Parts: sequence; structure tokens; C-alpha cells
Amino acid sequence: MDAVSAADGQIGEGVRVIAIDGPAGSGKSTVARRLAERLGLEYLDTGAMYRSVAFAVMAREVDLADADAIVEVARNSDIQVDDASVIVDGVDATTQIRGPEVTRSVSTVAAISGVRDVLRVRQRAWVMERGGGVLEGRDIGTVVFPDAELKVYLSASAMVRAERRAGEVSALDYETVAADLAARDAADSSRQHDPLIQAPDAVHIDTTDLTVDQVVDELIARLG
Ligand code: C5P
Repeated sequence: MDAVSAADGQIGEGVRVIAIDGPAGSGKSTVARRLAERLGLEYLDTGAMYRSVAFAVMAREVDLADADAIVEVARNSDIQVDDASVIVDGVDATTQIRGPEVTRSVSTVAAISGVRDVLRVRQRAWVMERGGGVLEGRDIGTVVFPDAELKVYLSASAMVRAERRAGEVSALDYETVAADLAARDAADSSRQHDPLIQAPDAVHIDTTDLTVDQVVDELIARLG
């Protein structure tokens, strides 16, 4: 058997997969990146993949209401996500995928089950190629890798999450960021396919008053 089956997300022996889920601004990316470094694993930001599809949809001027056309975009777009850059169909989209336009449309794109099917296969293949990894997103522990060695659900108060995001996107004021974040959380948590929920066997950490190292130390301790 392959170390990881690309079809169903089963994980073979000796393959380390850590799944980190949670809402925007809960600290997933920072924690996942640092945890991956400490464990000598690679890190995948699956949100960047959904953002890349939204970017390609906008670049090709596809109607956001046309789910079939959006699934087609997901199927035939070339998305290269690594730690430093995001390349979509040969175009450097590293900055634009974090911009307000993509941020406002990404939840619509991510709610389409055909888009999720395409990206789930790619996320599993990414792990298979590397023999493991730390993945962060909304459905990693619930859907993509339900048998991950460690499943983590990060949360933080709405105020702290909005402050963190406002600090990252200097072009927008706090109120706008807070409103966009609340709308995106509501859409991600209430959608029909793979909504953001905590897996019953996930470790829940509220990062509101914790440093990144405190969270990472706690997760390393859980790994034993
Ligand atoms: O993590 P980030 O905030 O960049 O994710 C952008 C969006 O991508 C989320 O708001 C959500 O709609 C979608 N997403 C998802 N499933 C994932 C990761 C992200 O639906 N595993």
C-alpha cells in the first residue's frame, strides 16, 4: 500500500500527519509553520489553495454564481503553494490571494463541493509525495486526514482574531476586517459541505492569551 492513499486519506505506518483547523486569525498558520519546523516536516496552508482558486476565478472573469464553471477552473488551474510564494497558472499571486477581493469571494468558492473534491485529492497527494506534513485549514482533521496523528482545533476571541488580521492587512481598518472575518466565519461554519467544526478527538486550544511558542510546546508535549 502507498504510505498515504491519495483516494481516501488513510495514513500508512511511519507517516506523520498533523492536522490544524480553526477560524481565521486563530493562529493556525503561525503555529503550523513553527510546529513543522520543530518536527522537521513540511507545512501546507490549504487556505492558500482555496484562495488560489478564487484568484483564478477572478482572473478568468468567471461568474461567482456559476458553480460548474468554478469547478472547471479548480480542475484545470495549476496551483503551486509553498512556504514563500503562491503561483497560479504561472502568475505570482502571493500578495493578491491575501487581498480584499479574494478574501471576500473565497468562502463562496470553498462552499462548492466539486471544488473541495479537487483540492482534497491534491492535499492528500501533497502528503503522499512528502511522506507526511503539517496541514492547516478548516476540514483537515474532519475530512482530509481524519486519522492524523494529532488533530488540533485552535480558537481565539473574535476581537483578538480581528486584531491579528488587521495587523496583517494594513490597507483595511479594524471595523472592516472584523466584519469581513465574521461573515467568512459564518459562511465557513454553516456551509453544507465540510463546514468548519471541531473534530470530537481534536485537542482544542484557545490561543487568545498564549504565545506561539506556548501553543507549539503544548502540541509537542501531546505528541509525546
Ligand atoms: O485560512 P484562510 O483564512 O486563508 O482560508 C481562506 C478560506 O478558504 C476560508 O475562509 C475557507 O472558506 C476556505 N478554506 C476551506 N477549507 C480549508 C481551508 C480554507 O474551506 N481546508
